[in-house]
Amino acid sequence: MPLAEPTTYRHGDTTGLKERVAQLPLKVSEEDEKTGAGNYFVANYPPFSFWKPEHVDALEDVLATEPDPATPLGLYFHIPFCRKRCHFCYFRVYTDKSSAEINGYIQAAMEEMESYAETAYLKGRKPKFVYFGGGTPSYLSIDQLTNLMSRMKAAFPWDEVEEVAFEAEPGTLTDKKLKAIKDLGVTRLSIGVESFDDHLLELNGRAHRSAEIERAYATAKSLNFDQLNIDLIAGMVDESEENWKRSVEKAIELDPECVTIYQMEIPYNTTIYKEMQDAGKLTAPVADWPTKRRWVKEAFEMFEKAGYTVTSATTVVKDPSKTKFIYRDALWEGADLLPLGVASFGHLGGVHLQNNADVGPYMEKLDQKELPVFRAYPTNVDERFIREFILMLKLGEVKPSYFQEKFGEDPLDRFAPELTYLEGEGFLEVGEDRIGVTRDGLMQIDRLLHSFFLSNHRNARYT
Ligand code: SF4
Repeated sequence: MPLAEPTTYRHGDTTGLKERVAQLPLKVSEEDEKTGAGNYFVANYPPFSFWKPEHVDALEDVLATEPDPATPLGLYFHIPFCRKRCHFCYFRVYTDKSSAEINGYIQAAMEEMESYAETAYLKGRKPKFVYFGGGTPSYLSIDQLTNLMSRMKAAFPWDEVEEVAFEAEPGTLTDKKLKAIKDLGVTRLSIGVESFDDHLLELNGRAHRSAEIERAYATAKSLNFDQLNIDLIAGMVDESEENWKRSVEKAIELDPECVTIYQMEIPYNTTIYKEMQDAGKLTAPVADWPTKRRWVKEAFEMFEKAGYTVTSATTVVKDPSKTKFIYRDALWEGADLLPLGVASFGHLGGVHLQNNADVGPYMEKLDQKELPVFRAYPTNVDERFIREFILMLKLGEVKPSYFQEKFGEDPLDRFAPELTYLEGEGFLEVGEDRIGVTRDGLMQIDRLLHSFFLSNHRNARYT
C-alpha cells in the first residue's frame, strides 16, 4: 500500500533539495554543542509527548482482536527499585521500599500480566524474548525473582523464548544471586558499570564502587551466561581524557561479549538539572557534545583494535555471528512488546502504550481491575515506516529493499533530499540498496534522525 506522502524524488535528484533541506532541524549553534538539559536519545517514534490518555481506547480495540501470527511477542518487566538514586537518573525510582511493599508491587504486576494473558490478542501466545529492566532488577531478592519468573512462565510459556535479558547493578549481585539469575534462565546479563573510577562513581551518585564491579563480574563470567554486556557512560561529571581511556581499557581487559556506550545526557528531573536550575546555569557540568562524540569514537577504535565489531551507534560486540540482541532488533522491526510494571513502555498491534509512571496510581488502577495504561498512540502505516527506518539507522546500515517489500515504499525515493544532504555532509553513504551511516554520522545519529520525522513531530520533547 503506498504511504501517505509519496514523492517523486530519487536519490541524487536535487529537485527541491534546497527547500526541503531548509526545513530540516539540522542547524547546530555553538550553544547546542554544549550539554544543556533535555533528552537527546531517540528511543521510539513518534515522540513520547504525542502519546495521550485519550488514545488508550485504541489499545482496548487491539486487545479484542486476533493477533497477526507473524508478529513476535516480547515481555518487558519494569522493576523501579534502586539502592540509591544516581544524579543523572530521570526515571521514577524508589530507594526506600520495604520487602513487603516490593512483594505487593510484584503481586500487582502479575495481576496486570494475567489480565493481559486472557485477552483475545495475547491468549496462548508464546514470547520470543523477555526483558527485565529498571530501575534495578537485581535489587530483588532470590525469592522475589523466583516467584516473579514462575508466575510469568505460567501466564506466557517460555518454551519459545530465545533471549532473557536482565539489567544488574554490580553492588546487588552476590554470588548466590548471580547463580540464581543464571538458573532462572537469564541469557543476557547486562551489568551497569558506567565507569571503573571510584571518584566518578561517587560524584555521580552511583551506589556501587569498582571493587563490587570486579567481584560481580568475575562471578558472572565464571557462570558462562550466553552474553555478558557492560554499560559505560561517556562524559559523566568530572570525566577526563585519562579516566575515559582507562575505563575503556579496563572494559577490554574484562573481555565481555558486548559493551554498550551511552553519551551522557542531562534530562529534566535529574539531580544534576535541579542543581543547574538552582545555580541559574544552562550548561551542565559535563563535557560538551563534540568531546563526548570523540570519546565514543576513540573507544570504538580501541575496541576494534581488540577484535570487537561496531554493531550500532552504542554497541560493540566480540562476535557478531553469535552475539545478537533480540529484544532491540525485534522491537525495532515492529514486534509486539507487552509492558508490565510501573512506567513501562510497550507496543501492541501498532499501538504504543505506557503505564502510569508512579506506583500509587499504577496499583490503584489494578486494584480497580483496570489496566494501568496512562497514555497511548495508535500509529499509522506511515509512522511505522518512519519508526523502523530511523531506529534501524541506529544500527549503522539499512537496506531500502526491506522497506519496499514491507511497506511498499522505498526510502531512497521518500527521503531523497534528506539523504542527498546528509551524504553531502559526510554522515551517510548511499548506494543502490544500502544506506550506510558513517562513523561521524553514527556518533550523532539521534540528532540526524529528526530529519526523517514528519514535520509536525520535529522539535518535540523526548519525554
Ligand atoms: S541505577 Fe539506573 S535506574 Fe537506578 S537510579 Fe541509577 S540510573 Fe536510575
